Amino acid sequence: MVRKMVAALGILALAACAPLPPQPDADGRTAAQAGILSLGTQQPDRFEAITVRLDLPAAAAGSVLSFPENWGPEESLSQLRRDTATRGLERLPGDGETYRIGPGGGWIAYTVAQDYDGEPDWETHRLPGMRVRTAESHAFLLGQTFLPQWSQGGVPLTLDLQSLPQRAAFSFAASDCATGCALDDLANSVLALGDFAFDTSQAGNTTVRSAIRGSFAMDADAMSGVLAGMLDQGAQRFDDAPFASYLFAVNPIPAPPQGSAVVGTGLHRSFLLLASENADEERLRHTIAHEIVHEWITRRMGPTDEATDAQRMWFTEGATEYFAWKLQLAAGLIDTQDFLAGMSDLANEYLSSPARELPAGQLAERIFESDQAQRLPYQRGALLAWHWDMLARARGAGLDAVIADLIEENAGQELTDARIRAAMARRIGGQFDSDLARHVVRGKALDPEALTLPACVMATRQPSGTVRFAVRDGIPADTCRMEILGHA
Ligand SMILES: [Zn+2]
Repeated sequence: MVRKMVAALGILALAACAPLPPQPDADGRTAAQAGILSLGTQQPDRFEAITVRLDLPAAAAGSVLSFPENWGPEESLSQLRRDTATRGLERLPGDGETYRIGPGGGWIAYTVAQDYDGEPDWETHRLPGMRVRTAESHAFLLGQTFLPQWSQGGVPLTLDLQSLPQRAAFSFAASDCATGCALDDLANSVLALGDFAFDTSQAGNTTVRSAIRGSFAMDADAMSGVLAGMLDQGAQRFDDAPFASYLFAVNPIPAPPQGSAVVGTGLHRSFLLLASENADEERLRHTIAHEIVHEWITRRMGPTDEATDAQRMWFTEGATEYFAWKLQLAAGLIDTQDFLAGMSDLANEYLSSPARELPAGQLAERIFESDQAQRLPYQRGALLAWHWDMLARARGAGLDAVIADLIEENAGQELTDARIRAAMARRIGGQFDSDLARHVVRGKALDPEALTLPACVMATRQPSGTVRFAVRDGIPADTCRMEILGHA
């Protein structure tokens, strides 16, 4: 199977985590100061065009709304919006589409519809399925591609979803935003409409909603099980409870010319999966697991600087990839052999990667040049995260505690490289700085056999040059499992 993973989406998944708007002191005051985001369909039970309206109170006067032109692999996003009408808003000159809210407040309304014919495909789209999809039978939209952001000022928004048909799921329920949600968060969403299979299930304290089209190697229940297990383990290990409700939306995409494709992206209280229907179960499960870990790394740690995200992918993607494997093991979704096989695969992809010695600075510039460059932070970062977990554990608490620390200290300020490094060094000790400088900053090759591993795990170099991590002879797999996991 050809592995197809678009690292760019991992980066996007980390962007734009705005702090919550200030809590109002009374509902009356909220109502006056909050705007309203309304979503609907242009025609009942048809999904060719989605209507969007933003009503903005006088409290928003002077604030500036800006519409996205690019997002991730998608460009020319203004082509997706039609029939724009405004009142009380002044269109500002310049390249982008931006509006200043006038003294008395105002509104803007528009429709959203896909700007290509038929189904998305690999020839026209860098990643089919990310761009707004609207058709008679269904629609699938990412908030980032059709909702604006505040580029100055702004007010929280309540939600009016009454014009949506019954067959619809949005990342937010109207009740989630009763006292106002941040537009940044609302834009970090997915909207699924039409012939999806909609379901709701309870996983611990979390209500999991699903919206799934297509037929996959994993059914909706199995996908919900992965979601629930990961949310539960993350809450325990990172000492941070999951959301009360969560949506996952799955839309099929055409298979690439060779093999299969599975791409996930974490959003606010939700995530989406775009997958070709020939994708195997292991790949689906792992992608879901990885995206759930992004809830904590880095969404709950504070916003990151999008423009420089690539340079900290050793952490944002590397630690996420490691915990995707570790939390699956902890949740019983995989066994010890699967975990070690997963880490062995990462090590071998790394050893055979022509990009493996790219220093972090060059990697940040060349991240989109090749699949190998995109995958390097996952490979190198996950191997180092495993090694650092063991070093930190020898000093009292593992890498789980570093993640918990970074979440705990989050007061809405930016998650900077300095904050990440300080939190790592505090638990891991002095070797963290030298490992980072050597293997990430300078890009010096990492020898998987030289990593600090759980004592029950042995790394052996095969005659072919590949590395294999395995449980040492005579040690029961379950004993080794406990050692790999450490204390929750
Ligand atoms: Zn990721």
